[in-house]
Amino acid sequence: MNIDFSPEELAFQQEVQQFLQEKLPEDIREKTLKEIPLEKEDFVRWQKILYEQGWAATNWPVEYGGTGWTPTQKHIWADECANYGVPELIPFGLKMVAPVIFTYGSEEQKQRFLPDILASNVWWCQGYSEPNAGSDLASLKTTAVRDGDEYIVNGTKTWNTLGHFADWIFCLVRTGGPQVKNQAAISFLLIDMNHPGITVSPIMTLGGHHEVNEVHFDNVRVPVENRIGEEGQGWTYAKVLLTHERTGIARVAKSKKRLQTLKDLAKETCDGENSLLENPAFAQKLAEVEIDLLALEFTELRTLAAVSTGGAPGAESSILKIKGTEVAQLIDELYMETAGYYGMPFVREQFRSGFDGEWVGPGVIASSVPRYLNNRKSSIYGGSNEIQKNIISKWVLGL
Ligand SMILES: Cc1cc2nc3c(=O)[nH]c(=O)nc-3n(C[C@H](O)[C@H](O)[C@H](O)COP(=O)(O)OP(=O)(O)OC[C@H]3O[C@@H](n4cnc5c(N)ncnc54)[C@H](O)[C@@H]3O)c2cc1C
Repeated sequence: MNIDFSPEELAFQQEVQQFLQEKLPEDIREKTLKEIPLEKEDFVRWQKILYEQGWAATNWPVEYGGTGWTPTQKHIWADECANYGVPELIPFGLKMVAPVIFTYGSEEQKQRFLPDILASNVWWCQGYSEPNAGSDLASLKTTAVRDGDEYIVNGTKTWNTLGHFADWIFCLVRTGGPQVKNQAAISFLLIDMNHPGITVSPIMTLGGHHEVNEVHFDNVRVPVENRIGEEGQGWTYAKVLLTHERTGIARVAKSKKRLQTLKDLAKETCDGENSLLENPAFAQKLAEVEIDLLALEFTELRTLAAVSTGGAPGAESSILKIKGTEVAQLIDELYMETAGYYGMPFVREQFRSGFDGEWVGPGVIASSVPRYLNNRKSSIYGGSNEIQKNIISKWVLGL
């Protein structure tokens, strides 16, 4: 199999490198490389630069402003971004609700919502999970009762990421009565977060910062025109969205970059008379992760190729999600091992307050503890890894 880039692809790679060097603001790059959390303003600023270039939406059809890149170009883009220190864009608008809108939304909805998502004028968040509906999502209880041209929404969504910054939320709600079978009672609503009756309460995470929330709906009136597709078909749209979410969680390019940085750090870290990189036990763990990552990269390429011919990723997205998060969490553990005591002072305060001083210890290693704690989430959100195994056993193995 020939996996060399063609001359056109090499030219594209150079174009990307030049663009990133010229356009990525240095302060954003520095934060990304040091793994310091970015502010909303940083994400908006960078997405607007990409928007100007026409490169904000690598996974959208060209007719709505997508890049039209081939799978290889997308792969090159992801690699170059990870290597150079480009932050990942917030996925809720661009990568999650937009594919639902351009696939199932009305013309009016496409014109109304897609341009603002592309230009990062409007921020979205996801309202799927509830206090008693996570893995068993179809048992969700938030109701939307029809009243003329509006729905009246009541209920609570939880683990809502970045809802305190969002302008809109895409929600799964129950529109059918108790006589309707779980999935067939669910509809997909787009709700303006400024509607009266919505309150957002913070949940503090293990790493000590405010990233997730509970969102409460108390008699919130939502125009029927904000429903995507048919009433009672929300489950179908929700599942498509989840395949896009899970594919994105794999983060192969980012893990490749982190693994390379880790090797450099382990080379500089003393372990007795040698470097940590030369420690056979450590080297073996590194090699095992690297092999898994390489296999994952090829699976991702195959998925990208399948998606480029139309349609959403299928059960492959579950494979990518499981393996991608396992690899990322193993890399986190190796960072912890490399950091040793240098990681400890940074557990809470710097992450919570937005650290702007110099790290103690070698480079990015000092952020390894907050990173480790924060990234425990990746095997849970987007549907836990155990649930992904259930999906694979049903849809791939036919069990
Ligand atoms: C940091 C973070 C951010 C999140 N962001 C969002 C968001 O923005 N929007 C949103 O809607 N949701 C979000 N979620 C919610 C996430 O999707 C759920 O946490 C996840 O689906 C698991 O649901 P649960 O927490 O209710 O756990 P439960 O469903 O109660 O599961 C508990 C444990 O039991 C296991 N389990 C449950 N059922 C089975 C089964 N049938 N077979 C095998 N094992 C099973 C699970 O794997 C898990 O280990 C986020 C979660 C986290 C942690």
